[in-house]
Amino acid sequence: MTRNRPAVFAPEPRPTGAAPVAWEETPCPLCGAEASAPVLEAPDPLPPQVSALVFAVVRCAHCNLTYTNPRPNAAGISRFYPTDYRPHRRPAKMRQSRAPRAFWARVLGRPCPERRGVLPWPGPGRLLDFGCGGGSFLSTMADQGWEVTGLDAAVGAVQHIRDEHGLTALAGTLPHPDLRPGSFDVVTMWHSLEHVHRPLTILRAAYELLVPGGKLVVATPNIASLPYRLFGRSWFGLDLPRHLLHFTPATLTEVLQTAGFRTDPVRMIRHGDWLRSSAKLARRRGEGGPLARALTWKPAAKAVAWLCYVARASDCMMCVAERPR
Ligand SMILES: [Zn+2]
Repeated sequence: MTRNRPAVFAPEPRPTGAAPVAWEETPCPLCGAEASAPVLEAPDPLPPQVSALVFAVVRCAHCNLTYTNPRPNAAGISRFYPTDYRPHRRPAKMRQSRAPRAFWARVLGRPCPERRGVLPWPGPGRLLDFGCGGGSFLSTMADQGWEVTGLDAAVGAVQHIRDEHGLTALAGTLPHPDLRPGSFDVVTMWHSLEHVHRPLTILRAAYELLVPGGKLVVATPNIASLPYRLFGRSWFGLDLPRHLLHFTPATLTEVLQTAGFRTDPVRMIRHGDWLRSSAKLARRRGEGGPLARALTWKPAAKAVAWLCYVARASDCMMCVAERPR
């Protein structure tokens, strides 16, 4: 076994009286193998008052899943989510637009369906959004006639959805005692699966919640992407230590199939603003050179995001899976 290097401790500015971070070493969260090889070490990209630690990412020697290890345990990870963590403060209303025609979607690249408030199927239906954040996607789906339920570990975000949107939202994770098997037509996981400690437990619970023929939609960062190769430890999609899993199209497909789903081919999602965020982070760290400087310019980032899409190497991807009938 290749020994994982531990996370590197630095002086840790935590609130007086706060408990120290509880770490755990994990076998591969997909296949359970212990053998892994180091991939990189990187600090938390959020401002240093949140965390001054450096985190290690490794790759499973058996199934190639890339994951953060060691990692803060499930009870302690919340300290790495600032109260204004971006997904928890999404705008109350998203920009809604019609789905682009399939031809143009193929040519120009698919923007994230979550942001556009669309699904590949019309409502009405029963939808669970796992990791619903501030509830903007839920709200948009409710406006389209979907019967929606949100689920999020952030209690404040859940309360906001109930108070501000008047929608059903639950605090916690999957499996959840208030959710009945076979009670949803669609489960969405927009940039939430990479945050969980036990992906197979979550996905098997989602499987049970779906009716036969029900759909699961998962979007995550893609570590087999050109932006990751360009920016490495400054790649926006790493977001350590909040991202515990770093999928490729192959490992995302594998984890979904292991949980029992039938999967469609993974689709790339075009994300020019992720490229810009990576470039800005690299610049702040004194990395990236002229390329990073160029990619902070929005038109350049958009053009390169399109090239990544065409090369099937975007830094964001999506997979539609189905519970077999
Ligand atoms: Zn593995």
